[in-house]
Amino acid sequence: MNYNIALLKGDGIGPEIVSSAVKVLSAVGEKYSHTFNFTEYDIGGAALDKCGVPLPDETVEGCLKSDSVLLGAVGGPKWDTLPGNMRPEKALLGIRSAMGLFTNLRPAKLYPALKSECPLREDIVKDGFDIMIVRELTGGIYFGERGMREGKYGEEAYDTECYSRMEIERIVRVAFESARKRNKKLTSIDKANVLDTSRLWRKIVHEISAEYPDVELEDMLVDNAAMQLVRNPSRFDVIVTTNMFGDILSDEASQITGSIGMLPSASLCGGTRGLYEPIHGSAPDIAGQNIANPIATILSAAMMLLYSFDLKEESQCIVDAVDKVLSCGYRTKDLANGGEYLSTSEMTDKIIGML
Ligand code: NAD
Repeated sequence: MNYNIALLKGDGIGPEIVSSAVKVLSAVGEKYSHTFNFTEYDIGGAALDKCGVPLPDETVEGCLKSDSVLLGAVGGPKWDTLPGNMRPEKALLGIRSAMGLFTNLRPAKLYPALKSECPLREDIVKDGFDIMIVRELTGGIYFGERGMREGKYGEEAYDTECYSRMEIERIVRVAFESARKRNKKLTSIDKANVLDTSRLWRKIVHEISAEYPDVELEDMLVDNAAMQLVRNPSRFDVIVTTNMFGDILSDEASQITGSIGMLPSASLCGGTRGLYEPIHGSAPDIAGQNIANPIATILSAAMMLLYSFDLKEESQCIVDAVDKVLSCGYRTKDLANGGEYLSTSEMTDKIIGML
């Protein structure tokens, strides 16, 4: 098969880690007889420097005509003083909205070889954990009516949370499908004891669950979920929740894996095209030194193979290669605890060697 992938390398370590993922994809292509064609487009600070805007039209058009998109990261101190709509980070919201990406998938997995990096007690994580957070990405309070006004006590501000049946149904279906492909357990997180949006969310989740009798469903209030994530993370398989709850809980989940350089993500639109990126930023403090951990971006490429191209074996082959390299004790600087470490390119070559 032939696949066209748009590359948005971005800023800081973005070019280094995307190049690593491209090498891994090319090696997988060779092994399984697929052709991956890569086309680079500018985004973020690099685009600002070249074209004067963080998200040029050509980049949006390129992404929309590609089969999928791989993004590094954007931003850095050079552009930090620009006004909000000219900041590199503005390009992220722009490309998500242009591609209609309403689903954010964020796996949070504790690798057995990295248990010592986890900030939780050993007895809590003795069985490890492997959670998939499905977060709604284009609705809720981040996109609702907002404003400033004069209230009873003077100046006040308000933001409103609004969810339509359509928005809830489509994200909940993605979550049930995801649970069906994993351990068939779905936790829906809301605040139904207080919020009307949550009560509608819960009602629709239960309606849709009738279509997935093979998936075990539980409801959980968001405050309890925040607690359970650090008390017993292995109880979760797939989590589905709203934009704001997902934003907060997915950051909490990423922290308990102990390694920001390891975590991939996928943003999907319901069709096959998606945007795949590591959850970390552009790490300007280590950019250009060939010491960044490329694994989050390489695992993002593995998610692309699974979710956009339905290449299960090829995707698993990358995940297994990463597992093997870590089990053999190879580490990048961020994981080495002051010990010996591999450069970005050496780690990439080790992973390719294990494919
Ligand atoms: P960051 O994630 O870039 O870095 C936080 C810390 O983690 C740094 O010490 C960094 O060196 C380290 N780190 C991150 N990724 C690493 C990797 N792959 N390997 C080894 N170490 C790694 O967060 P920050 O410092 O808050 O932000 C830096 C810039 O990135 C800012 O301009 C911010 O706006 C931007 N940002 C972009 C995105 C994105 O593009 N999606 C996300 C978050 C932050």
